[in-house]
Amino acid sequence: MHTVTIIGTLADNYTYVIESYGSAVVIDPGEASPVMRSLDRSCATLLASVCTHGHFDHTGGNEELLRRTSCQVLVPGASDGDATLNIGPFTFTVLRTPGHSADSVCLYVRPTAEQPGDLFTGDTLFCGGCGRLFTRSPETMWDSLQKLAVLPPDTRVFCGHDYMLENYEFASVLEPDNEEVYARLQEARALAADGSFTVPSTIAVERASNPFLRAGDPRMKRALGMESSSDVEVFAAIRRSKDRF
Ligand SMILES: [Zn+2]
Repeated sequence: MHTVTIIGTLADNYTYVIESYGSAVVIDPGEASPVMRSLDRSCATLLASVCTHGHFDHTGGNEELLRRTSCQVLVPGASDGDATLNIGPFTFTVLRTPGHSADSVCLYVRPTAEQPGDLFTGDTLFCGGCGRLFTRSPETMWDSLQKLAVLPPDTRVFCGHDYMLENYEFASVLEPDNEEVYARLQEARALAADGSFTVPSTIAVERASNPFLRAGDPRMKRALGMESSSDVEVFAAIRRSKDRF
């Protein structure tokens, strides 16, 4: 069993504290203070800070967390280390997902065999979107997203930023007739009006409504007039048009 506490950090980052029986791991601490407050409330011991990539808004809290706790700091994408991270009661599968940055990884952890797994996607996959391609080609990002798309449909998706509303505004312009996209846009508007968190999503929801995962879908190709283009070409076209949106 584990719990996931969602913490809003910086302007629109999501930081996560995963706890099990008094042990905790923080994912992507953009800043330290809200993480320390959460740990004070639960009295859990912070074993490690794990970062999905090295960008400052995902690592900025590490220095202070190191000073105030005895945690380890891990940026697994920075080295070619193990594909599995064992930290106290937690076992994370590290999925290498370059594209947004060369060192981007996603972290998959399953609390028990009976429960759905949790996926921490950093800036690779967002609710209704994907990260900007700072260092790698569309092919690389498309391959990375395919690794996520094949995870069990009920896998919960915890991403690195709250971009859901703008992502579905974009998605609904691409595919005005897609009902799944329209439903998610309505949901995003309601969550934004309440000031609520927009995570977690699930792999099933993202596969049905995230335009970046749907680049291979004939309906998407038709909507863009790209019926004879490859999946990667469609993905690259969607990414370019989102960059200008
Ligand atoms: Zn980033």
